[in-house]
Amino acid sequence: MVNQLTISELTTRLARRETSAREVTQACLDRIQQVDGEIKAFLSFDAPDALKQAEHADQALAGGGTHQQQPLLGVPIALKDILAVQGQPLGCASKILEKFISPYDATVVEKLKAAGAIVFGRLNMDEFAMGSSTENSAYFTTRNPWDTARIPGGSSGGSAAAVAADECLASLGTDTGGSIRQPAALCGCVGLKPTYGRVSRYGVVAFASSLDQIGPFTKSVADAATVLGVIAGHDSRDSTSVPEPVPNYRAALNGGLKGLKLGLPKEYFISGIDPEVSAAVNAAVRQLEQLGAEIIEISLPHTEYAVAVYYIVATAEASANLARFDGIRYGLRMEGADLFELYSKTRGAGFGPEVKRRIILGTYVLSSGYYDAYYLRAQKVRTLIRDDLLKAFAKVDAIVTPTSPTAAFKVGEKSGDPMQMYLSDIFTISCNLAGNCGLSVPCGFIRNPEPGSRNPKLPVGLQLLGPPFGEATLFKIAHAYEQATPWHKERPQLNAR
Ligand code: GLN
Repeated sequence: MVNQLTISELTTRLARRETSAREVTQACLDRIQQVDGEIKAFLSFDAPDALKQAEHADQALAGGGTHQQQPLLGVPIALKDILAVQGQPLGCASKILEKFISPYDATVVEKLKAAGAIVFGRLNMDEFAMGSSTENSAYFTTRNPWDTARIPGGSSGGSAAAVAADECLASLGTDTGGSIRQPAALCGCVGLKPTYGRVSRYGVVAFASSLDQIGPFTKSVADAATVLGVIAGHDSRDSTSVPEPVPNYRAALNGGLKGLKLGLPKEYFISGIDPEVSAAVNAAVRQLEQLGAEIIEISLPHTEYAVAVYYIVATAEASANLARFDGIRYGLRMEGADLFELYSKTRGAGFGPEVKRRIILGTYVLSSGYYDAYYLRAQKVRTLIRDDLLKAFAKVDAIVTPTSPTAAFKVGEKSGDPMQMYLSDIFTISCNLAGNCGLSVPCGFIRNPEPGSRNPKLPVGLQLLGPPFGEATLFKIAHAYEQATPWHKERPQLNAR
């Protein structure tokens, strides 16, 4: 089944003409047909358009096109429903953007297309990327391929589930507080949040502009390096993108871990973390040590404030960003007697409860009288969190933590308790607040506590945090670990129709 391959395996076969872009695209579409009724990763997909792109890729390959020139030539990649693709729906899994069609391509989409990728599909997510489970999608909840009674993580749950279920070779998501790394961990794939400014945000619907980054979900670390190499780089259309040269990430993969120092933050192995997750992460740390890395205990003393700070900064920025959805410019419009009624009816009908909660909270923390007490203070603590990390990176090359305190939880288990849900991001959020990079790589399994499940185990992710623009180091460490362990070879059993 060519849809099960990694990007590296597929491009080797494409180059040898052992398969075609058409064959792999069709295999992905067939797989969606077979399993997506159960997984529900895709909100929609445009099969004729995907096959047309595949035909172009096959023509390029036949004309002598190579993967040196176009690293993703013939590779089907699916996208979170937050990234703009010209002529395709762009909905952020929200009713307020129902029927909205994007008039242009995001920079990452332009770059994927220029690299020869077949860009297809709209992947489910929490509405406007607010959530950790995809239960906040206005349409349906995506299911974890390892146990369909469980959530795939979020907010990029569709992106993670589609890769884990082999419905595409790789996907893109966004990470504002963990939305790439946490679902990657819960679905057993590799997920990378690049350094803030590494990848252009032009064409991504903004949630919290100072935190959002686009990044890949892949089946291997090498594939993540390939995709980042394609999507990274300066973009004059995003003033926060950094004019830092893009290294050859693939070339950085090899070489041992001798001489590398890895920090283990003592604050991250706290109560509330599942003991089996903790055991898997500890075993991974020992493995990294055996591979030659030196493990050093470090302290990130302001970690305990990260979730609180995030929910002030992120909601404040979201309340401003989401003001544009007013019934005039995009998507849904509810008529009203006057303009104000039109706004309030449209926003009342178009936004779901979590988005409303965040807009209200964000407006409150920015309001005069409370601004100093909440927003300003949160920004100060954000600086302390960033300083903690930068101080640590002066001593170590990367930091190792669990990605998520638990494995995938059950659908409905936390959706009634926003505070519980917010705590799922405790290990991922500091990285967004500080702007550095982070990656999740599979590091084993825990027992599925539900007896009789098709897959008796649930994946666990190891998080590696790197300094700003330290992606190459993360790839090197994660690749060495992946090659020394069997986890990435395991696939969930699914009922194919
Ligand atoms: N789970 C976090 C939230 O709900 C992070 C979401 C994200 O990274 N987009 O905001």
